[in-house]
Amino acid sequence: MRRSIANYPHWIQDLIGESTERRLRVSTHEAWRRMADASITPLEHRHVLVGFWPLIERFPQFLALNLLKTSHGRDAGIDGARSWLAKNLRIEQKHAEWFLDWAEVFGTPRAEMLDGWRPVEMTAITDWCWHVCQHGDLAEAMAATNYAIEGVTGEWTPMVADSEAYRSRVPTENVERGMRWLRVHADYDDAHPWDALDLISQLAGPDPSPARVRGILAAVCKSYDLYRLAADVALECAAGAQARPARRAASRAAVAPTALAGA
Ligand code: FE
Repeated sequence: MRRSIANYPHWIQDLIGESTERRLRVSTHEAWRRMADASITPLEHRHVLVGFWPLIERFPQFLALNLLKTSHGRDAGIDGARSWLAKNLRIEQKHAEWFLDWAEVFGTPRAEMLDGWRPVEMTAITDWCWHVCQHGDLAEAMAATNYAIEGVTGEWTPMVADSEAYRSRVPTENVERGMRWLRVHADYDDAHPWDALDLISQLAGPDPSPARVRGILAAVCKSYDLYRLAADVALECAAGAQARPARRAASRAAVAPTALAGA
């Protein structure tokens, strides 16, 4: 993450601090590390891509649900969110297709992506995003999706996008098409979470109520936890059920259970 958090209100700085451990459990997840060192198996790779597909496919709809909450002309924060969401809807429109390209080039056909089996633990994050974008207030919903999910995606994608070992798994002529989704998220999404944070900060103001801050923090943490759960389960499904308890316990261990006390 590039910008200095010192320029944000204290409640935003606290929000970043209190969710950092959960964010790192996603950004340093074994699934991406094993993509980057090219040790991920074809079955694990398939489970990651098929399992995360609904989240990618629905992401523009999440922006649209939030856009529906806005109006123009009465509040600078809402005006800013409206124009940012509308602009990003256009940018996001190609990403689903590029995700399918990534899968196809690396061995998972389109039909499998669209209709293949995926565990409920991996689709929970999509259900959560739909729920919070439909029912949560604008700041909370943008925090759960544009800040948390896009932000942490921008943190793990560079290590895969820059990996020579990973790209060497496919023929040279297919590398550009296969890596385009990774490349754009490694590059352009770097600015997105900060833009979203600016808007969230403006929407909630410099001194929101403790209850509102707790709601936004809880939304961010839930997105991180469900993202990590999905990545855990993708690897577990490939390894077989016996791997579940050990991997899940290891993945959860470093997140302090008291981090959300009172939330
Ligand atoms: Fe995207």
